[in-house]
Amino acid sequence: MHESTARAPRIGVMGGTFDPIHHGHLVAASEVAHSFDLDEVVFVPTGRPWQKQDVSPSEHRYLMTVIATASNPDFTVSRVDVDREGPTYTIDTLRDLKRERPDAELFFITGADAVAQILSWRDHDELWDLAHFVAVSRPGHVLSTDGLPTENVSQLEVPALSISSTACRERVADGQPVWYLVPDGVVQYIAKHHLYRSRT
Ligand code: ATP
Repeated sequence: MHESTARAPRIGVMGGTFDPIHHGHLVAASEVAHSFDLDEVVFVPTGRPWQKQDVSPSEHRYLMTVIATASNPDFTVSRVDVDREGPTYTIDTLRDLKRERPDAELFFITGADAVAQILSWRDHDELWDLAHFVAVSRPGHVLSTDGLPTENVSQLEVPALSISSTACRERVADGQPVWYLVPDGVVQYIAKHHLYRSRT
């Protein structure tokens, strides 16, 4: 009998509010893809994030994510969170992606700030069955995975880009440029749709 040697697809999952998506997100995803030999990274814009208020409509955030990732054939964008009713919890994201891709091995990518919160996430003790977690460094945050299961969580130093979506929104509201902090198409999308004109 012919035995297949094909390995399970290794898929990165980059969850975020992406309000707007910026180069910090893109570099983190690219670095994890390289270091963990991933076949694809799926960006998953949140629907309504459970910890954040005053978030832009999900269709804007979804479309900016599509624009930002379009030039990389290994990057895709999923609507699982945007299309689900109610607040977004990562456990639901991973369950839905696993249902869509039962053969895949999932790698959830998270910045140093977000990984420090994981133990407050809904059903966090079930997260480890669904994905391996990769915590990446982020300027201004100490990268620590203390208290998390070592076999399920890795750390990765990535080039330090001191960019946040909050700072991008504030710059636009103040009339400052966001060129080169976010991809060119995202700059144009923000201008065309008059996003972030006032501070929220
Ligand atoms: P906000 O300023 O609105 O809170 P954000 O810049 O933190 O947004 P999110 O969409 O909330 O962006 O982040 C999605 C994921 O990307 C999180 O895991 C976050 O830690 C990570 N991340 C965001 N910016 C960076 C960065 N500059 N370097 C590394 N990781 C980042």
